[in-house]
Amino acid sequence: MLNSVRKRYLGCLAGIFSLALASSQLPSGPDAEPDVLVLKGRVIDGTGAAPLEQGLVILAAGKIQYIGKQGSRDYPATARVLDVGDGTILPGLIDLHVHLRPHYWDAFLPAGITTVRDANNALATLRTLQQDTAARPRLLYTGPMLDGPTTIMKRFFPDSLVARYVRPATAGPIGELIAQQVETPAQARAAVDSLAAHGASFVKLYEQLPLAAYQAAAAQARKRGLRVMTDLGMLQTRGLKGAQVDALQALQAGVHSIEHASGYALAYQRLGGDPMAPLDTRLIDQLARATVRGRTTLVPTLSVFYGTVQPDSARQDLATLPGGKAIPAPMMAWFEQQARQHTPASRGRASADLRLAQALVRRVHQLGGLIGAGTDVPAGDYNLPGGNLHRELALLVEAGLPPVAAIQAATGTAARLLGLPTLGTLRRGNLADVVVVAGNPAQDIRATRRVRYVIQAGRVLTLQ
Ligand SMILES: [Zn+2]
Repeated sequence: MLNSVRKRYLGCLAGIFSLALASSQLPSGPDAEPDVLVLKGRVIDGTGAAPLEQGLVILAAGKIQYIGKQGSRDYPATARVLDVGDGTILPGLIDLHVHLRPHYWDAFLPAGITTVRDANNALATLRTLQQDTAARPRLLYTGPMLDGPTTIMKRFFPDSLVARYVRPATAGPIGELIAQQVETPAQARAAVDSLAAHGASFVKLYEQLPLAAYQAAAAQARKRGLRVMTDLGMLQTRGLKGAQVDALQALQAGVHSIEHASGYALAYQRLGGDPMAPLDTRLIDQLARATVRGRTTLVPTLSVFYGTVQPDSARQDLATLPGGKAIPAPMMAWFEQQARQHTPASRGRASADLRLAQALVRRVHQLGGLIGAGTDVPAGDYNLPGGNLHRELALLVEAGLPPVAAIQAATGTAARLLGLPTLGTLRRGNLADVVVVAGNPAQDIRATRRVRYVIQAGRVLTLQ
């Protein structure tokens, strides 16, 4: 088995950069590799540093043993050497915002994504995913989110489903729930405790939570060692009316990440601005500075707006993404159905959300703040599981990030947010999560789409 994998691997190597990765050529799964694996090529290490040309990365025992220039270090003659030519060696990518389902669980690793953060899901679904023994990304999750009494689920689901999937905190087992309804600080603390007991590493605080309950949940999460992600009001969801907590209040509560640049439109409005009118750079600066001061990671998920604002481009662009040439018909039909639901007014609101998020991304980055990459798959339109993280990288570049900073958003900064210091950067001693792409993404960020090798904790996933 091992030999045949190696043969396939070396055969692949011979024609590495002429291969087109279609979904029928997905990695077949992990296999043991030789003790030492040597990669030669351009290195972008995930710290935001400039690329290292003619780099040398030595992997052994699932870890990065050495990183430097070619010729700067010897390695055993028995080591397997992969010279990736003009390709680029990156840390394994991290999608910070996904909603997983079993039918696209296999889409992430072939896209170079070795770690995902699930941002709201039933614990029962997460257990099913975790029991899957095939090679899958590392999974961190929030479990069911905390929302207020007027939870958003009431807008999307009939009463019968709301009754099944959304319950007040402390109303019994939470395995099936997708939201816990929380009205008081005491309920908030109980909801956080139940998530901690179920292995969540993050708590997701949603837009309709009353402020006092929000603050209590954030404080309880800190006490239990959980991190906090938050998704607040946006123009395109329910408008800003029902939302109670704005981004400045969330930052004060000490949240670790703000998703979709949500809550900023409400804060902007409360500061006297109109988020639908031309943006006031002074207000943007004020909000960005507060974000940077809080050391909070802005996870703008530009992808979730882009498909709504520019549906034609988003549809056409799908084929350039990993997995985008063979999208299953039901998924494509679902994309089209979602896209048809929009009106000019809803596209206008999404456009204002996108514009605000882009302005914040640019300013937060200029001020030295933290930007993280996430897609919110499968929300929004034409948001392809796995592949769309590569679109997110391009959108971050369009918003004003240098390409290496966009890559950092999906690697080093993302791992920092997850509290996983041995992931996300190519540093000696870190876990050997590595992706090789064709070409130079520091010059053209779209090069990340041409994924050639995916290595997770030292295990190479072969392209067949
Ligand atoms: Zn989401």
